[in-house]
Amino acid sequence: MIIEPKIRGFICTAAHPVGCAKAVEEQIRYVQSKGSFSGPKRVLILGSSTGYGLASRIALTFGANAKTIGVAFERPAEGNRTASPGWYNTAAFERFAHDENHYAKSINGDAFSTAIKQETANLIRQDLGQIDLVIYSLASPRRVHPVTGQIFSSVLKPIGQSFTGKTVDPMKGEVKDITLEPATDAEIADTIAVMGGEDWAMWIDFLLKENLLAEGVSTVAYDYVGPKLTYPIYKEGTIGAAKAHVYETAIQLNKTLQKRKGRALLSVNKALVTQASSAIPVVPLYISLLYKIMKKQGTHEGCIEQMVRLFSQKFMTDQSDRIRMDDWEMNGGVQDEIKQLWSQVTTETLAALTDIEGYRQDFYRLFGFQFPGIDYNADVEL
Ligand code: NAD
Repeated sequence: MIIEPKIRGFICTAAHPVGCAKAVEEQIRYVQSKGSFSGPKRVLILGSSTGYGLASRIALTFGANAKTIGVAFERPAEGNRTASPGWYNTAAFERFAHDENHYAKSINGDAFSTAIKQETANLIRQDLGQIDLVIYSLASPRRVHPVTGQIFSSVLKPIGQSFTGKTVDPMKGEVKDITLEPATDAEIADTIAVMGGEDWAMWIDFLLKENLLAEGVSTVAYDYVGPKLTYPIYKEGTIGAAKAHVYETAIQLNKTLQKRKGRALLSVNKALVTQASSAIPVVPLYISLLYKIMKKQGTHEGCIEQMVRLFSQKFMTDQSDRIRMDDWEMNGGVQDEIKQLWSQVTTETLAALTDIEGYRQDFYRLFGFQFPGIDYNADVEL
C-alpha cells in the first residue's frame, strides 16, 4: 500500500513503517556518534515507544549498553489502517537492538492496569532479575483506574480564571487568539488522576513488593515547567497541577526507596514536538519560536540529544531532585527574545519570525513522513 499522511487536527492517523524505522535509526546513529558512557544496566521504560521514552531507551541501549524492557500502548495495523508510529518504532528499535546483540523486549498494553504490571514483573524476574532504573514517560489522555475501574480523562485548561492567548494551527499556518474556560474541580482532579504521580507510585510499590528493584535503584519521571508565557495553560493549568503531584510523588518515593538505597527524581525536559505536546494550545507557537532561536544559537536539541545529555552528563552526578534539562531553553537570552517576538507573531509574520517549517517537519517525522531518501510512492507492507 502507498501510505500518505492523514492529518486530523493535531494528530496524524497514518504512520509510515519505513519512515518510523528511519527515525529510530537516525537516533541510534546519533547516540553511537557520541561514544559510550556508563549508566544503569537493567532499565524499565514506561512509555517507551515515542518521544522522550523512546529516546531514553535508545540512548541507554546504544550508549550505555543497557538491557531494556519497554512498556507502551500502541495499535497494530488492521486492514488498510496503518499501525501507530509507536508500534513501528518499537518493531524497528528491537530489530536494530537485536542486530547488535542488545537485550530488548517490549510489552504492548495499558501500563495503568494491574495485568500489565504483573506481566512486566514476570518478564523482569525471568530475564533480568532486578531493575536498576525505572523511567516513567507515559503521556496519556485517559486512565482506567486499576482498583476502582473509574475512567478519568485529562483536560488542558487554565485553573481559576479563563485565559485568552495566542495559538497557531501549525498545518494551516494560522495564528489566532483562543479563549479557554477554567477547569472545574472535577476536571482538575481527573487530570491529576491521569497525568499525576499515582500510577508511578503504584509501579514502584508493586516492583518493590515483588523484590524486583535492585539496591541503589533510581526512578525518574519527566517533567516540564516552561516560561511565564505558557504558565496559564501549562504550569498553572491542569497539566501543571498534575506535574506538581508528580513532584510530590517523587518526594514520597524517595522515602519509599530508602530501604533499597534508591532515589526518585524528575528530569525537567525541553519543550519539543511530540504527539503529547502538539495537543496543548499555545505550546506549538511557543515551540516554533523556540526552535527558531535555539537553532540560530546552535543550542537546539531533539529528544535524543536531550536524553544523551541527560544520561551521559547529568544523571549520575546531579544530585538535585529536579534535573534541569531545560537549562538551554530557559536561558535568559532565549526567553527574552521569545517575549519580544511573541507580540509580533501573526499569520502574516509566522513564516519569517518562527520556525514553523521546522515544527511541521518534526510533526510529520513523528509519523515517519518527510524523511529524505525514502520513496513515499513505493508500495509498503503495513
Ligand atoms: P509521547 O506522546 O511521545 O509518548 C507517550 C508514551 O506513553 C508512548 O510511548 C505511549 O505508547 C505511552 N502510553 C500512553 N498511554 C499509555 C498506557 N495507557 N499504557 C502504556 N503506555 C502508554 O509523549 P512525550 O512528549 O514523550 O511525553 C513523555 C513525558 O515527557 C510526559 O510526562 C511529558 O509530560 C514529558 N515531557 C514532554 C515534553 C514535550 O515537550 N514533549 C517536555 C518535557 C516533558
